[in-house]
Amino acid sequence: MIKAKKKFGQNFLKDDSIKYKIIKAISNDKNKIVEIGAGLGDLTVHLLRLGDVVAFEIDEELCSYISDKFKLEIETGRLKLICGDVLDFWKSQSLLDFDYKLIANLPYYVATIIILNGLDDERCKNMIVMIQKEVANKFIAESGSSEFCSLSVIAQSVCQVEYITDVPPTSFEPQPKVQSAVLSFDKNNPSYKLDKKFYNFLDVAFSQPRQTLIKNLSRQFSRENIIKIFDDLKLNLSIRPHQLNIEDYHQIYKKIKEA
Ligand code: SAM
Repeated sequence: MIKAKKKFGQNFLKDDSIKYKIIKAISNDKNKIVEIGAGLGDLTVHLLRLGDVVAFEIDEELCSYISDKFKLEIETGRLKLICGDVLDFWKSQSLLDFDYKLIANLPYYVATIIILNGLDDERCKNMIVMIQKEVANKFIAESGSSEFCSLSVIAQSVCQVEYITDVPPTSFEPQPKVQSAVLSFDKNNPSYKLDKKFYNFLDVAFSQPRQTLIKNLSRQFSRENIIKIFDDLKLNLSIRPHQLNIEDYHQIYKKIKEA
């Protein structure tokens, strides 16, 4: 019997009703399915009914288990199993050289970085991912909410983010200590294009969430210039980072770049 390894974030999804909700949320376009963390293959079985799958798995023991379990699918090319750390394969701009949708019950210790990579990867057309609920709330938070942060701005600049379902610890084996949630990220109609410097700008903007936005931005940019930009955009000088909307963030960034 295979013992779950904590260091790889192994919490296997056993609840069929949650698997059904994930499958139901998957778009029926022709893009290939990519699964990160095939685990014991509990989700992979369902994904293979929808189309060809490319699955990544870091754990060698699970890789040989999956190779046996899906021997036929691997032989017929319906499943391609890539053993190793997915982040090592993401060193270039795109994870794969074809368009794909990412479906995964993500290992929580690398979930945020995987989602950010997916948002950045032009070949990744949409994602349905299970993550820690606390992190999910950040990705879907709206301007004005105390959870609104740089992750909300980044995701909602390039995606429609939708909350699919809550997932209690009892849906997994072994049970995680935290609540989980499934989110859908649809990149079909991006409102903005992101560049790396925008990420840095957001880090500065949200560096001290309770401070005024001007105070945070003045740590890196000229205070005089920031005040002028706020005046031009008719923004309240005492606004806090979570109170600004996504469009305003892009407008401020554009003006800083032009200055
Ligand atoms: N998909 C399975 C399920 O739903 O039951 C397993 C999900 S489990 C939360 C996460 C899986 O990701 C584990 O099998 C783990 O070994 C794998 N994993 C962890 N870190 C990884 C990485 N950096 N690259 C690829 N796979 C990884």
